Amino acid sequence: MISSIPKWLIGLFGNRLSPNVKVTATTFLSPEIKKISFKSDISDWDFSIGYASVIRVSETDFRNYTVSYHNKEDGIFDMIVHIHGSGVGSLFIDSLKIGDELFISPPRGKKIYDPNLKNQFFFGDETALGVACAFLPLLKANGHQFQFYFELDEANNSIPELLGLENYTVFPKNNSFRNDKLIGNLPLFQMQEWDIANFILVGNVKSVQTFRKVLKNKTQGTIYSQGYWLEGKKGL
Ligand SMILES: Cc1cc2nc3c(=O)[nH]c(=O)nc-3n(C[C@H](O)[C@H](O)[C@H](O)COP(=O)(O)OP(=O)(O)OC[C@H]3O[C@@H](n4cnc5c(N)ncnc54)[C@H](O)[C@@H]3O)c2cc1C
Repeated sequence: MISSIPKWLIGLFGNRLSPNVKVTATTFLSPEIKKISFKSDISDWDFSIGYASVIRVSETDFRNYTVSYHNKEDGIFDMIVHIHGSGVGSLFIDSLKIGDELFISPPRGKKIYDPNLKNQFFFGDETALGVACAFLPLLKANGHQFQFYFELDEANNSIPELLGLENYTVFPKNNSFRNDKLIGNLPLFQMQEWDIANFILVGNVKSVQTFRKVLKNKTQGTIYSQGYWLEGKKGL
């Protein structure tokens, strides 16, 4: 879905973009990371790992966010959002409070999980914490060997622990993942057992692209990559 729809076109959607979910809880895990719980009829939603929903963040703007937890029976789901600045999505999510009603689409998009590979590697930043949380129970239930790598602002270093994530390493957001050599020299990629794995790369477009290039030359696994945001670009 495009990130912005002209006003005249919105009318053609009728009430299909009207509020369909209600906010039931909000928590700031850090000044930049907000976890929000919603209630709705989600009985026919598909929560495949990697899928994302669009949130209507203004009359004409839409942004992608990932469901981090869901319970179809109770009709509840959570999202974890990076409040990063003055983007229309960031400001809208920052303002959400209990009782607010808004439009969120059913999840759709790109599947990123290959259950056939024992080893699963996941790289991302703050925008990837939601999908990481959704992924963890599946990794454990299916007996995978797994490793999460996160590049985070210092203020968010403790968030993976707060979220109960496991087997993770936090790296500072200092452009290390824009450097082919540094990525190639990471200890994990010197181990033969990680030569074949499912590599999932999400988050900042430039980090994802650099990481992908290194892994393509260095490993034989499958690589699923999707940039979630790009400096200077509105929506993705
Ligand atoms: C499939 C998918 C799933 C996603 N899931 C999540 C999720 O679960 N949680 C989440 O927080 N985000 C998620 N995102 C990313 C989110 O959609 C983008 O960060 C989006 O651009 C935020 O919209 P905005 O209106 O706040 O900023 P925009 O108006 O899009 O951008 C304004 C400015 O802010 C910059 N910017 C955008 N995002 C960031 C950021 N994270 N950090 C620093 N600068 C930024 C832009 O480059 C631009 O310069 C996902 C994206 C995709 C494609």
